[in-house]
Amino acid sequence: MLDQSNELNAWDRDHFFHPSTHMGTHARGESPTRLITGGEGVYITDSTGKTSLDAFAGLYCVNVGYGRQKIADAIAEQAKNLAYYHAYVGHGTEASITLSKMIIDRAPENMSRVYYGLSGSDANETNIKLIWYYNNVLGRPEKKKIISRWRGYHGSGVMTGSLTGLDLFHTAFDLPRAPILHTEAPYFFRREDRSQTEEQFSQHCADKLEEMILEEGPDTVAAFIGEPILGTGGIVPPPAGYWAKIQTVLDRYDILLVADEVVTGFGRLGTMFGSDHYGMKPDLITIAKGLTSAYAPLSGVIVGDKVWEVLVQGSDKLGSIGHGWTYSAHPICVAAGVANLDLIDELGLVENAGSTGAYFRSELAKAVGGHKHVGDVRGDGMIAAVEFVEDRDDRKFFDPAKKIGPQVAAALAERNVIGRAMPQGDILGFAPPLCLTREEADIVVKAAAEAIDEVFANL
Ligand code: PMP
Repeated sequence: MLDQSNELNAWDRDHFFHPSTHMGTHARGESPTRLITGGEGVYITDSTGKTSLDAFAGLYCVNVGYGRQKIADAIAEQAKNLAYYHAYVGHGTEASITLSKMIIDRAPENMSRVYYGLSGSDANETNIKLIWYYNNVLGRPEKKKIISRWRGYHGSGVMTGSLTGLDLFHTAFDLPRAPILHTEAPYFFRREDRSQTEEQFSQHCADKLEEMILEEGPDTVAAFIGEPILGTGGIVPPPAGYWAKIQTVLDRYDILLVADEVVTGFGRLGTMFGSDHYGMKPDLITIAKGLTSAYAPLSGVIVGDKVWEVLVQGSDKLGSIGHGWTYSAHPICVAAGVANLDLIDELGLVENAGSTGAYFRSELAKAVGGHKHVGDVRGDGMIAAVEFVEDRDDRKFFDPAKKIGPQVAAALAERNVIGRAMPQGDILGFAPPLCLTREEADIVVKAAAEAIDEVFANL
């Protein structure tokens, strides 16, 4: 930790408004400030010299791991040659054009163009505007509602925070705003009717969606947005058959599908995209995090052919699209993207996410799955979660005030391994860099088992 008397520490408490942080405890010095000074491979180092295995890859974004020279060089080169030029009215750089081609080459079928932003939130903001524009061009001004899921995470803006389905992001911000609606989360472990099989529960979720569409009026519902696997809402893979059943409902009412692949894009599930992994047929795809492995901020919306054709008709009627960010396709960020996607291929990281990810999850399940307070161990590819319960047989959850999830994450950090206490429920999440080795996976599993034992022994 930072020395409490250190000048930087005082500046931090007095001047730095941290995101997703308890303002009071931080400003009063009751919670630790941690100054991160370096990173190499799957490890980060802090100012005390302590090294930790980052089993959450920052915020599931440093997919190639820390300290990659190739990406640093690409960034430096681009900064020297041309730090910035805008992408308005047809301007580009070699890197922005190359990256677009690389993304479409890797994307699911029928995708044609990439619109760039800087964060997952702004990319979803773009999605909302494109969906509304699309229906205006088609002469359907009433078809504007967007259905998201409870426990979905799609950003922190006014509209994207509305898409997000977590109370913490709504309460005290007057969110969600119309015309955003939320339907049931495909959270098999927490399903109400525990006699349901996965397929039955998937059908139940699809029926709930259809009920909402019919209640609202199909002519008013424009799109459905979902992460292939729920991320921040608890790391929850879809139950068997879920996406096929959802797709059937959407097709029936001419409703667009947005796959939010901010976490899953570029390899996290052991396939390039989660949509391919689960057989989704999206019209729009959100990408961010893994696109540059967070070496520079960059996001994008991949626009499918069907939407693109209507956008083109729109500009023939309305002129240039009135939607642009100064930093769209920022040259330094797209240069980082090109180097990052090259590196993912060179190192075989998509395959590694599948194979080492499967090893990691199975070792984790073996080590902690039998614990009397572990209700569920789940995940896919290189992402996993352990959910804690007070009673396994009754599936009784702990009082959130006990903060079991944060306690386990803290005990894990004491063992120099970083996991994440997910914000809603007692859930410990893992999303290591995709370059994780089996030896590193063993370190994470051992530390997790010890941390869990310690917290429950002291309860
Ligand atoms: N969508 C998903 C699925 C995400 O996980 C996140 C961020 N965790 C976002 C959107 C928002 O991205 P950002 O924080 O870059 O705005």
